Amino acid sequence: MQNIKSKLPNVGTTIFTVMSQLASKHDAINLSQGFPNFTIDQKLIELVHHAMLKGHNQYAPMPGLLSLREAIAHKTNSLYGSNYHPETEVTVTDGATQAIFTAIAACVSKGDEVIIFKPAYDSYEPAITLFGGTVVPIQLSAPNFTIDWQEVASKINSKTKMVIINTPHNPGGAVLSKEDMLQLEKLLSGTNIILLSDEVYEHIVFDGQEHQSAARFAGLAERTFITASFGKTFHTTGWKMGYCIAPKALMEEFRKVHQFNVFCCNHPMQYALAEYLKTPNNYLSLSSFYQEKRDTFLSLIKDSRFSYIPSKGTYFQLLNYTTITDENDIKFAERLTKEHKIASIPVSVFNLNQQDDKVLRFCFAKTDETLKRAAEVLCKI
Ligand code: PMP
Ligand code: GLN
Repeated sequence: MQNIKSKLPNVGTTIFTVMSQLASKHDAINLSQGFPNFTIDQKLIELVHHAMLKGHNQYAPMPGLLSLREAIAHKTNSLYGSNYHPETEVTVTDGATQAIFTAIAACVSKGDEVIIFKPAYDSYEPAITLFGGTVVPIQLSAPNFTIDWQEVASKINSKTKMVIINTPHNPGGAVLSKEDMLQLEKLLSGTNIILLSDEVYEHIVFDGQEHQSAARFAGLAERTFITASFGKTFHTTGWKMGYCIAPKALMEEFRKVHQFNVFCCNHPMQYALAEYLKTPNNYLSLSSFYQEKRDTFLSLIKDSRFSYIPSKGTYFQLLNYTTITDENDIKFAERLTKEHKIASIPVSVFNLNQQDDKVLRFCFAKTDETLKRAAEVLCKI
């Protein structure tokens, strides 16, 4: 048996797998890993079924089915006033995870620095490390997770290759404002820095706010890979379908990697998604759908000992437990799962040096019945 030298010696199993397994082992209500537990639109299932019966069961075109890329470009351009071309600037991917990995693979080389904001979604760092990049983390503070653009400016130097943003933000539930995006646009102007804008929750933004896509800002769009996920938008995380949008020159490099990474993605599902996207209400209704879930969850736990500010986007709610215990968040999340039968995600795992702010992340993409059972447990703690 040969030993290989690990390329990721400090990486273990992702927290989403750890907590979902623990939830299952202890028969706990699983509000940890982010996925809906309700049925999806039967129409979407019928569309996939129909595409399979029609014989679309072989390889899709490498960059994605053209009609789906057209639908994606049309949606993006109408919502954000951009001008993406479906043939050269949109690629269908195996979920946003692959889009993120491929964008990083296409751009980041040994010695490059990549600025990320902590708490950060856990797939960014390993990808940067694998391609020889250096992660430059900037820790944001709970509960608002606002970005100090002066601090960002102080981290930029000649080695900075990429900045990664995520709005709406997982796990923080924060959203970047128009002012934030303008500041970033100014900061990157005149540099060669690439932006990776992870916008998988673009259609889950609350309280009347508008999603500030990088596509809205010409000075950002010209340097940006936008990554998106049909898993979030159509409640189909298990389908692993997403996409990447970027200007032609960036997309050419992206596709060089994509074609040897996955080559292409699920073909019948692309037919179904192309058709389903023709009805804007299928994605435009998502914010109000999840805002109701958020409000239901928060009203049910308002008398608990947890404290919070309402999530501004995503389907996650952070709850602070300082008044309950001074245990660290990993221990507390484990104990809640084992003893109280409710699973969450400890936020410290996404923080710089595992900074522990005593907050847990709960996914409210659940049936009202599940939210009610979860709230009953949380109110007893
Ligand atoms: N980025 C963020 C911020 C996420 O929360 C997720 C998880 N769903 C992804 C990317 C990955 O999305 P997908 O499931 O489409 O790979
Ligand atoms: N994005 C999901 C979350 O934040 C999980 C995705 C995964 O399990 N990799 O919970």
